[in-house]
Amino acid sequence: MESLKLKSKLLYLLLMLGFGLVIIGLIGYLNIQNIKRHMDTLYFGSLLPLSELNAITDTYHNDLASPLYRWSNQLLSDEQTATKISLGLERVNQLWASYLTHDKRPEEMAYVNYAETQIQSIERYFSQTRTLILDQNRSLPLSLNTLDDNIQSIHNTIQQLIAYENASAKYEHSILLAHYENALMQLILFLGVILILVMSIAWKIFARIELQQQQLIESTEALQHLNHKLEQASYTDSLTALYNRRYFNIVYEREFKRAMRSNKPFVFMMLDIDFFKQYNDNYGHLQGDIALQSVAKVLKSTLQRPGDYPFRLGGEEFGIILSDIDCKNARSMGERILANIESLKIEHKGSKILPTLSVSIGGICIIPTAHMGEDALIHTADTNLYAAKERGRNQVVFSNTL
Ligand code: GH3
Ligand code: MG
Ligand code: MG
Repeated sequence: MESLKLKSKLLYLLLMLGFGLVIIGLIGYLNIQNIKRHMDTLYFGSLLPLSELNAITDTYHNDLASPLYRWSNQLLSDEQTATKISLGLERVNQLWASYLTHDKRPEEMAYVNYAETQIQSIERYFSQTRTLILDQNRSLPLSLNTLDDNIQSIHNTIQQLIAYENASAKYEHSILLAHYENALMQLILFLGVILILVMSIAWKIFARIELQQQQLIESTEALQHLNHKLEQASYTDSLTALYNRRYFNIVYEREFKRAMRSNKPFVFMMLDIDFFKQYNDNYGHLQGDIALQSVAKVLKSTLQRPGDYPFRLGGEEFGIILSDIDCKNARSMGERILANIESLKIEHKGSKILPTLSVSIGGICIIPTAHMGEDALIHTADTNLYAAKERGRNQVVFSNTL
């Protein structure tokens, strides 16, 4: 359920990112198109016309007026001058035709038309002058008096158009800048919104992942705790809370091998309550169980070192494993258990040796070797227990092989 929520949130995040990218791409595309349009308007609407107008002025000065002056100073022949005038007029017409192809504002058109009539009038002037130059039969010398006025006049007109185009270039440029800033703001704003949305979703996902991690840690801990408890339970005898036979098998083998490896004494003792059948008969099975618990308590309180293990092997039989202990101390440990149980003073009128509950212990202390069977030690302890019973009970019979 939780992971489903997480998945849908992740999907939401991806959709949000995808949507954001598409919108940003769209905004970017539209803005680039718009800016391109403005650039075209600026270039073809103002900058290119400007250069054409400048070229027209230059042509008037350099390709039309100048050859005429040179002709009048006899620096050019009639034919050369006539050719230059033809070429100059042709160039002016070409440039003007090209200039007219660019978009013009309606308010600009009046002045453009005015300029055109002037260009045509000047063209007539130059054409007539050219004809006169080529006229071999002209009687009067050709006067260039009006040339300056004509050139000056067309120069002024074109300059006026240039000023107009300049102004409109500036205007177009300011529009382009405004649009650029607008587009930039839009992009920043949208990026900001997308960023905030994505961050907030990512934050929620992060929080959920953290929560799930925490829950996972907690449930893992709970499971480990439960496992530990189960393991403990599987190793524990339910009546006495001592280790049970199952755990005895594990610990016995482990400690036996450890003692063999480290060449240290290994101690195993078996303990059996004396005349316990009688005890049950006299006090009842329930009371018998309570007596078993009392014996277990004594074992627990007497064996408190880390290497000491008391077990209930079954019925009213107990096992004891002691590691890291020398044989003398092991035997006296057995004696101490015996004395501690006796000092409980649990009434046992069926006992043939004491008025209170007692136990017998058979034990062995040995440094295990490879050829020694593990079962042999159990057998020896059992034999010693039997001997303790035979010799009158309430005693320890211990084989000290060291
Ligand atoms: P001995 O001194 O020779 O050991 O005599 P004993 O009567 O104790 O003989 P034995 O060790 O064979 O005793 C076994 C008796 O222990 C039989 C049963 O009545 C009693 N017993 C075994 N398990 C339990 C148990 O879980 N609870 C109780 N109350 N009694 C048990
Ligand atoms: Mg027994
Ligand atoms: Mg017994």
